[in-house]
Amino acid sequence: MKGWTGTFLKIDLTNNKSIIEQYQESLASNFLGGRGFAAKILWDRLKAGTDPLSPENLLIFATGPLTGIGLPNSGKLVIASKSPLTGGYGDGNTGSWAALNIRKAGYDALIIEGKAHTPVIIHIKDKTCEFLDAKDLWGKNSFETEEKLRKKYSNLAGIVSIGQAGENLVRFATVVSQEGRAGGRPGMGTVMGSKNLKALVVEGTQPITLAYPQEMKQLAIDGYKEILTKPNYSFWKRQGTMNTVDWCQENSCLPTRNFKEGVFDKAEDINGFTMEKIKVSNRGCPQCNMTCGNIVKDSEGKDSELDYENVVMLGSNIGLGNLKQIATLNRMADEYGFDTISLGSIIAFAMESSQKGVISEKIDWGDFEAIKALITDIAYKRGLGAVLAEGVRTAAKTFGGDSNNWAMHVKGLEVSAYDCHTAPGMALAYGTSSIGAHHKDAWIITWEIQTGKDSYNQAKAEYLIKNQLIRGGAFEAFTVCRFPYTPLGLQLEWYQKYLKASTGQDFSIERINQISDRILTLIRAYWIREYGNRWNRDLDVPPPRWFNDPLTEGNQKGSKLDLDKYQTMLSNYYSIKGWDENGVPKKSTLKKLGLQNEAIQLEKHVKMKE
Ligand code: SF4
Repeated sequence: MKGWTGTFLKIDLTNNKSIIEQYQESLASNFLGGRGFAAKILWDRLKAGTDPLSPENLLIFATGPLTGIGLPNSGKLVIASKSPLTGGYGDGNTGSWAALNIRKAGYDALIIEGKAHTPVIIHIKDKTCEFLDAKDLWGKNSFETEEKLRKKYSNLAGIVSIGQAGENLVRFATVVSQEGRAGGRPGMGTVMGSKNLKALVVEGTQPITLAYPQEMKQLAIDGYKEILTKPNYSFWKRQGTMNTVDWCQENSCLPTRNFKEGVFDKAEDINGFTMEKIKVSNRGCPQCNMTCGNIVKDSEGKDSELDYENVVMLGSNIGLGNLKQIATLNRMADEYGFDTISLGSIIAFAMESSQKGVISEKIDWGDFEAIKALITDIAYKRGLGAVLAEGVRTAAKTFGGDSNNWAMHVKGLEVSAYDCHTAPGMALAYGTSSIGAHHKDAWIITWEIQTGKDSYNQAKAEYLIKNQLIRGGAFEAFTVCRFPYTPLGLQLEWYQKYLKASTGQDFSIERINQISDRILTLIRAYWIREYGNRWNRDLDVPPPRWFNDPLTEGNQKGSKLDLDKYQTMLSNYYSIKGWDENGVPKKSTLKKLGLQNEAIQLEKHVKMKE
């Protein structure tokens, strides 16, 4: 095989063993890599109903045929597992030197199972894999952990670790790399903690065999140059995703006070231009020339890496309008190893619950000191923090009353940073995303607002599906960053050329779309297999707040979603995908995608249409 190593490393933490596995070429050509590999491995090897925090769960670090071969934005890694937050498929991607090193060590993916008896670090160097005592690192935050390991290993080693949130099994803990590049929103750090795995260090020294290495070298040079020519390149370097704050404010979709409103009175204090005034440098993933991490000094003088999502979820969504203080909360989140989106959502949920008297604890919007204390309590699962550490879906059940009405999640994953009172298509993107309410699979809100935000028509469902195939399918399987493609506008043809030079194979748009559809459909089947009798189409409906509580501020005052029209749009979506009225893929759909064996297995868990 060219472009892939053809090899996985299976690591058994219970017995301190590792086995090198050769996989079949058909796996690569059908599932490509990254998310595709992860979905297939979880489907094939993880027994239905496995407890996500049990030793049996698998933690997968997967790369793709474009990862780590000198191409623009190719230092990405997919981390996947059965999610302890949602109970369904979970993954996330992160920029890390670990991505390159896994490939250079000779693997396309690491599959970790079992549970170490005491805290360990896995150290992989090419074909060796050792298990090292991590007792002295347990209890340390992710920055301290990486710093200590960085001193011990080479500067180029790939290091990922968890902080105290992962150790203490907070259900939205992430895996952290390179001081704040975190991945795996649905609790991938939690799974790592459940396995007593504090960190992974990978050092690879082998070349990756490519089909056309000379062409690849030239394509990489040209690709980097092409990115520099994009009209919004320099503004991107200045602000990264932070320019979205103003756009969302103008269009009434800036999450504010637990998604109650779409505008924030202090938006200017947290926008990209305010950030530029305190910015000290850029930080980014390996092999990237459009680094989008904005480093600022926080209110305590520490470096903090800001982007749109963390600023908004730990800012306007919790009523905080001071960027340096937001930076402090963000730094705390990265040190403890929390997902910032879920953290911001669960804090906002607690604030609204406090305001409405559902809980006795007092916590006001924007109360910086109280928020800091609460974040620490969540990390160590103390008092109210212990309830919030379970995520917003479970916390709403514990709080009771009508708190579910302001619990902002889909399938247990907290909604990321776009308010959808005025955006039914984006709401559908959240409703049908592969991991719960995340924007990674499809970000159609700007298109939607430009082309007709009030419509719930079939064209919207069609556009969403195309977007999901590219963003949630293709880029997650290539395992490279999607930002050169969107928003910068590097055409898909570049990726087809990259794939050809890497693998020697032709990848037409039709072939890419079919692989993506296969991956996303398998993930859907995975959710249904895990949920069994509990599966129903209401799981694809976003939170009640967007249907019931109209906006009371801003130029879209009075707006809310229409549930009947949303349901019709959802039915259209299912019909285009070849799924039945409950969102279950039909047997014929699975067969068309080459998933006939999966159809036979799925039928044991749910009633399926022909
Ligand atoms: S654009 Fe940002 S997220 Fe993408 S590779 Fe570069 S630094 Fe990483």
